[in-house]
Amino acid sequence: MKKKSLYVGIITSTIFILSIVVLLSIQYSEWNATEQSPDPKTMETHATREINTLSKNTKTRATIGAIGDILLHHTVYNDAKTNGTYDFSAMFSPIKSMLETPNFLIANQESMPGGTQLGLSSYPLFNSPHEIVKTLQNVGVDAVTNANNHSLDQGEEGILSSIAYYEKINMPYTGAFKNKQDQQTIRTFNVNGISFALLSYTYGTNGIPVPTGKEHLVNLLDEQKISTDIKEARKQGVDLVVLSLHWGNEYQRFPTDEQVRLAKSLTNSGADIIFGHHPHVLQPMETYKTKDGREAVVIYSLGNFLSGQKDDYKDIGGMVTVEIEKSISSDGVKISYPSVQFNPTFVAEANYQNYRIYPLADAHQKGLIANSEEELVSHMSDGIHKE
Ligand SMILES: [Zn+2]
Repeated sequence: MKKKSLYVGIITSTIFILSIVVLLSIQYSEWNATEQSPDPKTMETHATREINTLSKNTKTRATIGAIGDILLHHTVYNDAKTNGTYDFSAMFSPIKSMLETPNFLIANQESMPGGTQLGLSSYPLFNSPHEIVKTLQNVGVDAVTNANNHSLDQGEEGILSSIAYYEKINMPYTGAFKNKQDQQTIRTFNVNGISFALLSYTYGTNGIPVPTGKEHLVNLLDEQKISTDIKEARKQGVDLVVLSLHWGNEYQRFPTDEQVRLAKSLTNSGADIIFGHHPHVLQPMETYKTKDGREAVVIYSLGNFLSGQKDDYKDIGGMVTVEIEKSISSDGVKISYPSVQFNPTFVAEANYQNYRIYPLADAHQKGLIANSEEELVSHMSDGIHKE
């Protein structure tokens, strides 16, 4: 027994000493490697072709979110009035954490925020307080689109006053412009190494003619112009082109044949994502394969995000989040969409006061609305076919 334990002792000590030697030699070689390895740049020049190719295989992801119409009826801006100014932040507070989730967020500012100096007004010729834009910025909106059927409600003056405020607080805008050069400047953004252009158009301006010689005031939905603008954006080397389209028929929960035709035509012309609005209610999302083999994502209508309209789905809106993946390999750059997520929202009020935007699930749980989150998510996700 004694002899055996001596053996065990010797074996144990040998293993122990050997382990230390092995560990020390690993440590030394690691230290040596760190000390002697050249900086990454030099290493790249010495790397074999195969390693070089591998190092260029990268993947990056970003999320772009969008919310629908911000259309401020008098009931909404009167409710925001506090001490002679306007503060919309309480209305957005229940939805703030949701809006913070995408890397980049776009809102459609339908009523022109021309400010109080032009006199605030509601339907049919809107003019909204500047302060709504400040709130949008505070809750995470990174850019606004402003080509809408209400763009010319206050004429050129309304557009110029709203743009002066966008510029004052550094809120990027696109769709309605101060001059020709402004219109021709394509807005591009870069999120997590993924670059995109944002373009915005409206089907019309409620019968108010765009002044001759001032076509820059608002981008009309002209397929030829959009196609030219997309080509111009592509020339700037963006990874994708995002369109904001004010289109379709009001209060219809499914797109018209014309919207579907335009979606296919414009994605084939080079658009990658279309965020739609104007119908005041939600219309489904679709993905399309373009003729040149790209994937395209179309959200036909994002509904009202904040407005004084109520009932029949007009107080329901939401945020769509498109996840974008950019893969770079020896085959080139490939853009794909691992997920497109829709989060419905609801505008609650009591006697046209205390307007609050809630995640729809919360509003449903509070008994503020009968429709469930599940119902609206499936309305958005089950496709545009009515059967
Ligand atoms: Zn509209």
